[in-house]
Amino acid sequence: SVEDVPPSNLTTDQLLDGLLTAEFGSRSCRSRYEFASYHDKKKKKKHTSHKPSPYLLAKLRSHEALQKQCGPGTAPYRAAIRQLKSGNGIVTSDSENCRYLVPISYRGLGNRMLSTVSAFLYAVLTERTLLVQHDMAALFCEPFPRTTWLLPSSGWLGGGFPLGHLKKYGKDSKESLGNMLKANVLSVGDNGNASWSDSDRPPYVYLHLDGGYGFYDKLFYCDEQQRLIRGAPWLLMRTDSYLVPGLFLIPSFRDELERMFPEKDVAFHHLGRYLFHPANDVWRAVTRYYDAHLAGAGQRVGIQIRVFTQNKPLQKVLDQVLSCVRREKLLLPSIQTNNASVLVTSLSSWYYERIKAEYGGSRVHQPSHEGWQKMRDASQDRKALSEMYLLSTCDVLVTTGFSTFGYVAQGLGGILPWIMPATPFWSTETGVVPDPPCMRAMSVEPCFHSPSNYGCAARKDVDVGTLVPYIRHCEDASWGIKIA
Ligand code: GDP
Repeated sequence: SVEDVPPSNLTTDQLLDGLLTAEFGSRSCRSRYEFASYHDKKKKKKHTSHKPSPYLLAKLRSHEALQKQCGPGTAPYRAAIRQLKSGNGIVTSDSENCRYLVPISYRGLGNRMLSTVSAFLYAVLTERTLLVQHDMAALFCEPFPRTTWLLPSSGWLGGGFPLGHLKKYGKDSKESLGNMLKANVLSVGDNGNASWSDSDRPPYVYLHLDGGYGFYDKLFYCDEQQRLIRGAPWLLMRTDSYLVPGLFLIPSFRDELERMFPEKDVAFHHLGRYLFHPANDVWRAVTRYYDAHLAGAGQRVGIQIRVFTQNKPLQKVLDQVLSCVRREKLLLPSIQTNNASVLVTSLSSWYYERIKAEYGGSRVHQPSHEGWQKMRDASQDRKALSEMYLLSTCDVLVTTGFSTFGYVAQGLGGILPWIMPATPFWSTETGVVPDPPCMRAMSVEPCFHSPSNYGCAARKDVDVGTLVPYIRHCEDASWGIKIA
C-alpha cells in the first residue's frame, strides 16, 4: 500500500490557523484536516475569528518536540521506567531527564475529554510528556507527530508501565501529594527546592484532584507545592474536571497562560481542536450524518438534553426546552418553515419525538437514543463522540447546564450556547420551569466544577470567583468557576 504522506497543499484554514502541524498523513486520520470544512467556513465569523497566538503556536511546537524526544520507545523513556521500577529517587534537577504526566481516566467521555485537555495544558506548562490511557486509542488519532501519546501497557515487553492498574489510586493512597504533605514526608527547603524528610522517596507522586478532594490535595493549586512536585519524574493525576481556570489561578503559571491565551476565553476552543481528532470510523459517522441531515440547512440548531438523575423522561425538562426555544426565537413554528435543521441529542427519544411533533418531522433529527449511560462502553463512547462533534457544527446551541458533554460541543464549535440551568439536577417531577428557562453563556469555556477555595497567599478560604477579572462563577454551577 501507498505510504500515508502529509498532503502538500494544506491551507491555513485546514491547519486551524497554525494550531495543527502539516506533518501527518491524512488517510489514517481524516478528521484532522477535514474539521475546518465542517466548521469554520460555514460558521458566522463572529465566534471563530479567534486566532491562536503565535506564542501558543510556539509552545505547541516545542511541546511536540518534547513528546517525541521523551515518548515511549526512546532511551529517556526506558530510563524513566527503570527508575520507576527501582522505586527510588524522586527529585531531580537534571534537565536531561524527561518527566511524565499520566492522567487517570474515569467517568463519561465529556469528563474524560475535559480532564485530558487539562492534563495536556499542565504538561505544557511544566514541560512534561503526556501519556494517556488506552481508552483514547479507539476514539482519537495521535495528536503529536512521530510519537505516541498512549501509555504502554504493563505487559509490554521491556518498556511497560510498572504501576499496574491506575484505578487503585484514590484519596487514601499514601503516594498522593495530599497524604505526603499531611504526613510531612514532603517539605520545601529555605532555597525553595523540594526536599524529603523521609529516606524512602517514591519515584512518583499521585495527584488526587477528584471532586471530593481534601485540604491537602487542594494545595496542588499553590505555588509552593507546585515547586515541590516540579522535579518528580512521574505524576499521576486523577480528575474528571476542566482544571484550566484553576491553573490560571496559580500565580507562577498565570503570566505564561496569559501570553499563550491573550483571548483567555477560548482556551478550550484552541486546545480541544488541537488535541482531539476523532478516529476514522467516528469521523465517517459524523460526516455521513452531517451530509444527510444538516448540510443543506440554512441554519443548524443543536439541542442537547442530559438529565442526570432520572431515566424516565421529565415533562418539566421538555417544557423548559420548548420555552427556551420559543422565548429566544431560536426556531419558527412548523407552519412557517424556515430553512433550519434541528439536531437533538439525548439518551432518550421521548424529547425528540415531542420536539418533532412541535416543529415538523422532516427537519428534526436525533442520531441515537442509547437509553441509559453505560460505563466504559466502546460503542456508546463512539456515538457520544460523534454527537459532540455534530453538535459542534451547529450555529445555535441549547445545552443542559452542568453537562460536560455539552461543554465539549460548545467549546469545539466556539458556540455561545443557551444554557438551561438544571435545578438541582431535575431530581423531582415537582417544581416549575425556571424563569428564564435558559440564558446565554458568558463564554464558550467549560465550567470547572470543583475548584479549590483555598487562597494560598491569604492562607484561608477565599471567593475564587473574584480573584482575577476574567474568572467568574459559572452560569450553571454557582460553586464552579469559568474563564469569561
Ligand atoms: P456529562 O455526564 O453530561 O457531564 O457527560 P459525559 O460525557 O461525561 O457522560 C455522559 C455519558 O453518557 C456520555 O459520554 C455518553 O456515553 C452518554 N450520553 C449522555 N448523553 C448522551 C447523548 O445525548 N447521546 C449519546 N450518544 N450518549 C450520551
